[in-house]
Amino acid sequence: MAGTLYVVATPIGNLEDLTYRAVRVLSEVDLVACEDTRHSQKLLNHYGIRTKTVSYHEHNERDRAGELLTSIKSGLDVAIVSDAGTPGISDPGFRVVRKALEAGLRVVPIPGPTALVPALVASGLSSDEFFFAGFLPARSGARRARLADLAAIPSTLVFYEAPHRIIASLEDAREILGEREAVVARELTKMHEEVLRGRLSELAEKFSQAAQEPRGEMVVVIDRNVIASSDEDSKSGYSVASIVAGFEAEGLDGRSALKKSARQLGISRDEAYRRLTAERSREKP
Ligand code: SAM
Repeated sequence: MAGTLYVVATPIGNLEDLTYRAVRVLSEVDLVACEDTRHSQKLLNHYGIRTKTVSYHEHNERDRAGELLTSIKSGLDVAIVSDAGTPGISDPGFRVVRKALEAGLRVVPIPGPTALVPALVASGLSSDEFFFAGFLPARSGARRARLADLAAIPSTLVFYEAPHRIIASLEDAREILGEREAVVARELTKMHEEVLRGRLSELAEKFSQAAQEPRGEMVVVIDRNVIASSDEDSKSGYSVASIVAGFEAEGLDGRSALKKSARQLGISRDEAYRRLTAERSREKP
């Protein structure tokens, strides 16, 4: 009989966050496939788990997924873990899960830590609807394009970010999404855990002016597009002219101000132009 693939979440910093069930599964399976065997061995040692480990990371994912499936088909139970949090969430794991399902094998998730959820719930920003966008692109042009794609989403936005890019990303977000409330959750579950709150520009400034370079692991949570998330009646009550005027007052030319207003309202540029013209003609005596 074929074995089972377990997808096991592990701590994002604090070793106490491994669940009882994860300890049992990691102890009972035949093999633990780790993103980094040396890293995960410390966790396994901490819990006295002696299961054999094998590496499974983004560079050998393709070959190793096939080998793991062969083992499971032959009757072995295999667990996959990543360095931190839940495999498959901005970490390897998706490919082996997909292949296991295609092969008709049983996949069992063992839920537990992941960085985005504690960041979201500690942020104080609306958690009833959120959009997790993983890591933003490293290069500014691609990052801004990605942010533009996300601008009209009427949900709280959640990103992972590297410390050396946090200032540039917050500045790009401020420019593309407009000024919004945001949170940077740093070093969650660890000794120096910190949840910084403020508007995007204030957070960027806080990091720029700090004596030290930004450090640690970070999740960025950004308030939803308040205009796009209003109901249709109140949305149609927003004056495009006043939004455009606000952006012009910040120094944008008319064309860019219109483009940005359209993005903020979640409507096309043509629609924004049509409404702007109608509003202006109504204003004329
Ligand atoms: N699989 C992980 C999960 O389930 O959250 C994510 C892995 S991803 C490669 C690593 C990123 O997750 C970090 O760059 C950071 O953005 C975020 N992260 C991981 N641990 C964190 C922590 N303790 N505090 C804040 N962010 C964390």
